[in-house]
Amino acid sequence: MLGNFLQRIWLQAWSLILVEMNGQEIGWLLRPREHISLLATRRVTMIVSRVRLIAGLFALLTPLWIIIDILTFPPEIWHGLAAGRVAVTVAFAGILIAVNRMETLNDAYRALGLLLATPTVFFIYTHEHMGAFQLDGLQAAFATGYAYLPFVMLAGLSIFPLTLLEGILFAAPMLAAQVIAATLKLPILDWPNLAASFWLLLLITAVSLLAGLSQLAFMIVLVRESIRDAMTGCFSRHSGEELLELQFILAVRSEAPLALAFIDLDHFKSVNDQFGHDAGDQVLIDAAQSIREGLRTGDMLTRWGGEEFVLIMPNTSPEQACVALKRVRQRGLGQRPDGTPVTASMGVAERMRDSADSWRRLVEVADERMYAAKQGGRDRIVGCE
Ligand code: GH3
Ligand code: MG
Ligand code: MG
Repeated sequence: MLGNFLQRIWLQAWSLILVEMNGQEIGWLLRPREHISLLATRRVTMIVSRVRLIAGLFALLTPLWIIIDILTFPPEIWHGLAAGRVAVTVAFAGILIAVNRMETLNDAYRALGLLLATPTVFFIYTHEHMGAFQLDGLQAAFATGYAYLPFVMLAGLSIFPLTLLEGILFAAPMLAAQVIAATLKLPILDWPNLAASFWLLLLITAVSLLAGLSQLAFMIVLVRESIRDAMTGCFSRHSGEELLELQFILAVRSEAPLALAFIDLDHFKSVNDQFGHDAGDQVLIDAAQSIREGLRTGDMLTRWGGEEFVLIMPNTSPEQACVALKRVRQRGLGQRPDGTPVTASMGVAERMRDSADSWRRLVEVADERMYAAKQGGRDRIVGCE
């Protein structure tokens, strides 16, 4: 049954991957290093919120089970279990509180690591504690329940959108805990049983990793579709704002410059009026393409509105931004249907030079300068003098 399930997930994951994803995105499934920031932030949010959900749930359920322990086991056993459960409850509640404001991927790793470490330690502790007693009947049955903890945890990994590498790294300590727990009983080791349960653990781990991967694959496809403007391939306004917010925080944190250009095509309405809307669309597509070709990797072009673009240039001084924009102007922005060149008015702003205290302010300054460029006669840059 598990084999069937495994096969189904495997096929589903591959059909999704093969049909929907490009080579770069398949690389994103394997390791997180090259994830674009919008994917990274969404993943952090999802991992952290699920860590909190599980921590909250277990902070409630773990102490409740003490009642069952009391009803099932003699005092010498349940005392120790209750102490362990109280400690675990405190740990889960602590995670729930501590994980509240987490932003970076490392924060998410820490949160997930703590979430998994807590029951792992509890598992080894209960294993050691209960191993000292000879139990039978109902007591033995409930004691076996404790031995299932690693299975639950490894299955639980499936709700996190992890890359293959992350999945393996997070699963490894839990698998190791199983080995440690087994060696604690070394003299009476039941080899066939141990091998069977370890094999089952490995299967569950594989299913979990695949489930996590397929979640990540869905996320990658959705992020891609939601962040791009379908016509020009630029970032959409919404994702542009998200990118700006993130880049602004990063720039402030590392005291790095952050330059921004507001670009508005000149007399664009007349293209529509004279040659039709489709011709206008084509001019927009070509202009966006030309701008992108003149940029360095890391610069992000956003379609802010109709024929307005915002260019985000992280780690770029005003001088460097102006060099880039002059290069863009030199290459040209394509042609109108009548063969005349498309021109644009541009306003440049930079976080530190213009003492902008927020990304919105930075956009405002660039927008004002773009407007000044219009006033000054169009087809020019303001902010580079
Ligand atoms: P200015 O030099 O002052 O910027 O003049 P303009 O004509 O470019 O400025 P205006 O803002 O008056 O006109 C923008 C036009 O862009 C109006 C709108 O019809 C057109 N537009 C907006 N989005 C699209 C689009 O997706 N496709 C097409 N074809 N036209 C669009
Ligand atoms: Mg315009
Ligand atoms: Mg406009």
